[in-house]
Amino acid sequence: MTNYFNGTIQTLETRVADKLSDYRFQHSVRVRDYAVKLAHDNGVDEDKAEVAALVHDYAKELSDETFLSVIKAKHLDSDLLNWGNYIWHGVVGAEIIRDELGIEDDEILNAVREHTTGGAEEMTPLSQVLFMADYLEKGRDFPGVETARQITDQSLAAGVRYQIVHTVLRLVKKETPIYPKSITTYNYWLNRGLLN
Ligand code: GDP
Ligand code: FE
Ligand code: FE
Repeated sequence: MTNYFNGTIQTLETRVADKLSDYRFQHSVRVRDYAVKLAHDNGVDEDKAEVAALVHDYAKELSDETFLSVIKAKHLDSDLLNWGNYIWHGVVGAEIIRDELGIEDDEILNAVREHTTGGAEEMTPLSQVLFMADYLEKGRDFPGVETARQITDQSLAAGVRYQIVHTVLRLVKKETPIYPKSITTYNYWLNRGLLN
């Protein structure tokens, strides 16, 4: 734990609770529980999974102005300016998490960056664990969630494939803009997800 966050897990929980509404903090705790289980089942570092999951939505309730100023101050990809909170809270959120919480581990920060869209191409097992835990935590209740849980219990990669296919399908059906990285993740995992 001390390697990933300069304090106890209780301190980290308090920092996240102070930053979020109760509703979203409870989501983060459920993602933590699911991520630790998936990490255990897949031989992934459970402490890393716990930290990544607790902080994954840390930036989600910040204002658009805050994200825009961080994108400019840190000279992040200017294409980010064309998107919104749903993309910023992961990609820009990782920078905020590093600065405010002192979490420096690149694997954790990348898992946070990739938690909404997937990682475009290959994702570390930790990234896959966080991506799936956010989708499958016990409070999630969408058609197919039980199927998605069962598939993920069989194979983490098959779960990633299931999620990205169904998310892209849902976004297309709603005629919502799709972030290019989501499409690249879809193309890659369509075939990759069949392997282990
Ligand atoms: P949350 O932060 O726990 O609510 O979950 P996520 O970070 O995974 O997703 C945030 C929102 O972004 C969800 O409503 C996703 O369906 C949505 N989302 C994911 N990928 C894309 C995308 O490429 N385009 C758009 N418009 N929305 C997306
Ligand atoms: Fe999120
Ligand atoms: Fe989340």
